[in-house]
Amino acid sequence: MARYCESCGKEMTATATFCGACGKEQAPSAAGATEATPSPKPATDPKTATRERQKKCAAEWKEKKAELKKAGSKITWPKYWSECNKRLKAAGE
Ligand SMILES: [Zn+2]
Repeated sequence: MARYCESCGKEMTATATFCGACGKEQAPSAAGATEATPSPKPATDPKTATRERQKKCAAEWKEKKAELKKAGSKITWPKYWSECNKRLKAAGE
């Protein structure tokens, strides 16, 4: 898209910031003004929330593991994590 100098009216390239003929500085082109702004990060990143839940569940698991095993439970960490994750999610964490 051709542009024309604001001062002398000479045709210049769309990306030129100064007129080649008279040296007048040009206003930024419309194309350059509409730069894409990065979208803001969501306040609660689902991945972070999952990590937080996993941390809590891991702490619970550490405490309860021995007790559960003693009680004859065959529960394993993946199963416990899945149940704990569901529980915390339901609680809104
Ligand atoms: Zn000019």
